[in-house]
Amino acid sequence: MTSNNIPGKQIRLSRSIVGSAEADAASRVITGNGYLGMGAEVDAFETALAEFLGIDRSRVVCVNSGTAALHLAVEAVTSPGDAVLVQSLTYVATFQAISGAGARPIACEVNTETVAIDLMDAERRIDDTTRAIMPVHYAGSTGDRDAVYRFAEAHHLRVIEDAAHAFGSSDKGRLIGTDGDIFCFSFDGIKNITSGEGGAVITADPAVAERIRDARLLGVARDTEKRFKMDRSWDFDVHAQGYRYHMSDINAAIGRVQLKRLEKEFAEKRRKLVHRYREKLVDIRGLRLLETFKPGTVPHIMPVRILDGRRNTVKTALNARGIQTGIHYKPNHLLTYYGAGAVSLPRTEGLYDELLSLPLHPGLAIMDIDLIVDALVDALGTCVEHP
Ligand SMILES: *Cc1c(COP(=O)(O)O)cnc(C)c1O
Repeated sequence: MTSNNIPGKQIRLSRSIVGSAEADAASRVITGNGYLGMGAEVDAFETALAEFLGIDRSRVVCVNSGTAALHLAVEAVTSPGDAVLVQSLTYVATFQAISGAGARPIACEVNTETVAIDLMDAERRIDDTTRAIMPVHYAGSTGDRDAVYRFAEAHHLRVIEDAAHAFGSSDKGRLIGTDGDIFCFSFDGIKNITSGEGGAVITADPAVAERIRDARLLGVARDTEKRFKMDRSWDFDVHAQGYRYHMSDINAAIGRVQLKRLEKEFAEKRRKLVHRYREKLVDIRGLRLLETFKPGTVPHIMPVRILDGRRNTVKTALNARGIQTGIHYKPNHLLTYYGAGAVSLPRTEGLYDELLSLPLHPGLAIMDIDLIVDALVDALGTCVEHP
């Protein structure tokens, strides 16, 4: 196996894995019939997503980003001022989607092993404005979904799964998106599959699906069917606030190619790389693996915990050796717009200080992982036992 890490070149934290098949598909749309908007390609992508997940076609609504998917999902099930329980440790897109819909994100603690929302902590933050809970499938792992749904049922909450990291992951043998309330996926450039930019809402609730289908086209009632036939509504009505959130045919064409590559190429490679990381890092002192990888997970990122206050030192050392790393994520409750730390979430804050994400994307080879691990061990200055 050859490494595609050229000496002196950076090993990137993540990247899009796209090639001539995606370029050809996009090019067919561009040079086709002069229709670049939401048309036959989006229709076909939605059908392909439904087939992949094994669900009814009517449950799939594609939009132009994962953030748009979350925004429309929150807006569909909350009223302005309603509260949504969400882990603070997530991408800011999750919080922005909630506040953008006029709801209030209520920052909750995470379990420091699984990085899933801590339901005991969430329960303490419930009041009579609480309408929904939003578990984030961090790193592609799905947490204890049964517990989330039991919790939601007990407290009469809707569940919106931020599955931006988890396209292709399954929970107890069932793909994420098949059974549950509302799921939001992202197909941005670095996610498990990409459409360039894009996202999708999947829901078993026909009223929510219909509302979101209209909301992505400025609220124009039932415009989707017309667009799929290269037509549009002229004498229309609008029942609710809408947005320009529909997906374009160019993006859908890229997404359809990527979907075909997911299982055999991307998912398998991501799992193989993470297995290698875990095998080599399991006994390294000064570092702890997270429990974000279980059977069925398509790992999206490779976060580890760097102990003893050494995260920033280790990050700098890896960077100096051309290895790009990340920190997923700065907790949202620390951001000015979300209260600048007015609430204290000690476990989340402690974990944040330790988190370091190592490079993970299907363009890496096993020998890249070995090189990264060697550099990491050097940076930690710990001895590895040699036989
Ligand atoms: C990527 C991401 C989103 C947003 O998706 P975009 O397609 O980039 O808008 C939301 N939540 C999480 C956890 C993400 O990683």
